[in-house]
Amino acid sequence: MGITQIALKAGFERVTPVRGDINTVLNCIGKLSLYKKNSLKSRLENLPEVEGVMVVDSPMRLSSRKYHPDNLAVRVNGSGEVGGKKIVVIAGPCSVESEAQILCTAESVKNDGADILRGGAFKPRTSPYDFQGLGEEGLKLLAKARKITGLPFATEVMSPEKVDLVAEYADILQVGARNMQNFDLLKELGKINKPVILKRGLAATIDEFLGAAEYILAGGNNRVILCLRGVGGKLFAGGGLSRNLIDIGDIPLIKNRSHLPLLFDPSHACGRIDMIEPMSLAALCAGADGLMVEVHRDPDNALCDGLQSLNHGQFATLMNKVRAIAPIVGRE
Ligand code: PEP
Ligand code: MN
Repeated sequence: MGITQIALKAGFERVTPVRGDINTVLNCIGKLSLYKKNSLKSRLENLPEVEGVMVVDSPMRLSSRKYHPDNLAVRVNGSGEVGGKKIVVIAGPCSVESEAQILCTAESVKNDGADILRGGAFKPRTSPYDFQGLGEEGLKLLAKARKITGLPFATEVMSPEKVDLVAEYADILQVGARNMQNFDLLKELGKINKPVILKRGLAATIDEFLGAAEYILAGGNNRVILCLRGVGGKLFAGGGLSRNLIDIGDIPLIKNRSHLPLLFDPSHACGRIDMIEPMSLAALCAGADGLMVEVHRDPDNALCDGLQSLNHGQFATLMNKVRAIAPIVGRE
């Protein structure tokens, strides 16, 4: 059997020869799984008349801009879109600590123009002895803050078993950096009808990051928002002064490869408030669709991440700068 016949028999719809003086290139087009393409590649490569086989495919069909040239704008209950013309700012404390605390910050960030409230109820802490979050009580307090301010909220879910519970309350479910490749969690999030913020893993390449997004998309949930938050390698970052290696250089690379909305979290990337404003503005200039920033009414006494949380006044200043820069970067 000739190569053309082998390719057609394997399921390719069209096999077009491009003849040169010495060699012929066969261009095979068809909807075959990557597995089938690779099996055929191995088979053809063993034929003496075949010099080489190249599989041209993007395994990341759902997250890849190649197949979705237009930007995706993700609709969020009560807040318009993430990834549209408007720069979206998600703000709030690292953790929900008490009713007074979350209501106070929710009202403050709302007045300063935040679009979405954030706050952790289930916290992935490095030490088991640190504050682990208020759990479902924290979700109830976030729901109360939403009722009062009208701000939808994003909050982290750490395990597949908790997805239904968190989805009952939250407008956006967040996958933390430490769980970026928790595939059971990602599969569960593929089944829900709520947007998901996927944070980049501490040591994840861009392909691994988009692969994780693909899991959620492949499950049928097409509302995925990416979020950069710095990667490991702090020794190279400010001589160890910043919490992570700040990955805003990856913003244009990810934007070119994927149509999904992309946020930047300056708090976890930098770990210190003096870097938050400059890195936020740089991220927006680099093409980020918005920011997720930690804000606390009293950062010195925060139960979590106080060193990287803006106080209310600092957040108001940041928002003024974001508004000033928006038209310059072609956004609202
Ligand atoms: C957070 O946003 O509260 C958080 C824990 O961030 P990360 O997963 O990026 O560390
Ligand atoms: Mn935090």
